[in-house]
Amino acid sequence: VADINQVKKELLARKSQLEQELAQLARLKVSDDQVPDAADQALISTLEEINISLQNNERAEYEMIIKALRMIDEGTYGICSECGQPISEKRLKLYPNATRCLVCQEAFEERR
Ligand SMILES: [Zn+2]
Repeated sequence: VADINQVKKELLARKSQLEQELAQLARLKVSDDQVPDAADQALISTLEEINISLQNNERAEYEMIIKALRMIDEGTYGICSECGQPISEKRLKLYPNATRCLVCQEAFEERR
């Protein structure tokens, strides 16, 4: 990995951004001081569904970042756990917590 400190800085920045967004999403509640009609009800449940799937996505990304940060501290970040080769930066951008290079990941998935 070119510059592990830079990667760590970016991951930490993304982590606090996600923390803020998740806190905001958790606060987002539809007001319940009036009884919604059927159309409102449909809109509200759509919004709630979007909210929940957003939260799930962000939580999944958050977990990925936590793992990646742990791997940086342990010195295993960006190194394939199977062949010991560096994992491509393109792949790490998508999956910061990747533990296998693309070749080993594909082999792993075929074995399953
Ligand atoms: Zn590998």
